[in-house]
Amino acid sequence: MSENRVRFAPSPTGFLHVGGLRTALFNYLFASSTGGKTILRIEDTDQNRKVEGAVENLIESLAWAGIEFDEGPHAGGGFGPYIQSERLEYYKKYSDQLLDQKDAYRCFCTEDELKEMREQQLARKEDTRYDGRCRRLSEEEVSNKLEKGLPHVVRMKINHSKKEYIVDDIVRGEVRFRSDQIDDQVLMKSDGFPTYHLANVVDDHMMEITHVIRGEEWLPSTPKHIQLYEYLGWQVPKFAHLPLLLNPDKSKLSKRQGDVATEDYKSKGFLPEALINFVALLGWNTADDQEIFTADELKEKFTLERVGKAGAVFDLDKLKWMNQQYIRQKQSTELAALLNPYLPSEARTISEDQLFRIIEALKDYLVVLPDIAEKISLFTSDNPELQDLALAEQLKSETAQQVFSSFISNAEKEEKLSSENFGQVMKTVQKETGIKGKNLWIPMRIAITLMEHGPDLSTVVDIFGKEKCLQMVRKVLINP
Ligand code: GLU
Repeated sequence: MSENRVRFAPSPTGFLHVGGLRTALFNYLFASSTGGKTILRIEDTDQNRKVEGAVENLIESLAWAGIEFDEGPHAGGGFGPYIQSERLEYYKKYSDQLLDQKDAYRCFCTEDELKEMREQQLARKEDTRYDGRCRRLSEEEVSNKLEKGLPHVVRMKINHSKKEYIVDDIVRGEVRFRSDQIDDQVLMKSDGFPTYHLANVVDDHMMEITHVIRGEEWLPSTPKHIQLYEYLGWQVPKFAHLPLLLNPDKSKLSKRQGDVATEDYKSKGFLPEALINFVALLGWNTADDQEIFTADELKEKFTLERVGKAGAVFDLDKLKWMNQQYIRQKQSTELAALLNPYLPSEARTISEDQLFRIIEALKDYLVVLPDIAEKISLFTSDNPELQDLALAEQLKSETAQQVFSSFISNAEKEEKLSSENFGQVMKTVQKETGIKGKNLWIPMRIAITLMEHGPDLSTVVDIFGKEKCLQMVRKVLINP
């Protein structure tokens, strides 16, 4: 059997939409899990939507996410060029062939005519579509118009003798489309550029694509594509249309409700592994609902058969949770390097050893990398302050105050303070005051770490040492 070949075919609009990232990932995972090849193809035939630097940006974002391509504008390969604007001759060739075969026709309708057609259809409460009037032009009429140099497009003929077109989709099964509801699609525009539909089919054929894995929004175009493959006598690839991505309120994922660019997640300090793990689960799962996957596990376990039809909700809280899991799993050295760009300048004077200990203490409390800036101030500031008024209030209770003064007098007697003797000091405080359990520990934890839930108290004591611990507790003592 020949190898699977799949492609990710973005239009370079300026950023990589997370939906695009999901499509790229599913293509990559499918190819990886079946020993196939992944191709990157840039679909830039819409000259109006061209954005400077967009291709480089796409390639960079995909590389950041760890998605690798066997072929593409940056990777080379035997089926190039991989940028559609460099392939115009092929589209012209096949458009001419379709015209010769009378499977396509020239359409001279002007913008105004098309607009009027649409308005009349709307007034009759019909669906709007091209009514095929140029399909009926005689050869003579066509050559007259051509002689006059009238601008025109090329449209494909939908075969209305077929009642319906059937798309056999790996995700959705058999999907049927009534032929009278399918437009005679424009294949070539008047500027000589192909539309997406022609270019996509020509390239998928020429690049020997076996599986077309793409977003559900392209499903209605698929019957047209199938018809083109048939007119051109080419083998139709297999199709898999991925479910829509939704906002938590089940509307289509949109910028208005949050970030949609992969780059936004990168700059907000999400780890690529976490984002990929999260995106992999947007429409796919394993039978046992596993949540955390290594990149290798994803490649091993992914199958198109387990991609669902239902829209997949983009749940930011879940992504945050996942990011936190991935940060926790990191070794201190690697994590320190990742956190480095977010460290405040005060943190740069800390010894590497000390920095690792701090990161170790804080890493369970980081959701995204930039969180380090605020969290580390406990260790880097000369005089860290308790901001939370409710917590400050707890420290004023009589028992808390007793604990503090006993702690100060006992800790002062110690030569140094670390996790080794901290427990012992606290035991003495307990004996002296008769206060134990929560009433003993919570005020101490808040006084020293400024948090009710946070890093392990004795780890913080270790990092602080005697003087800073005493300083923190003295600060909350009301009547020293
Ligand atoms: N260029 C299309 C897009 O931007 C590709 C659709 C397809 O994969 O066929 O989504």
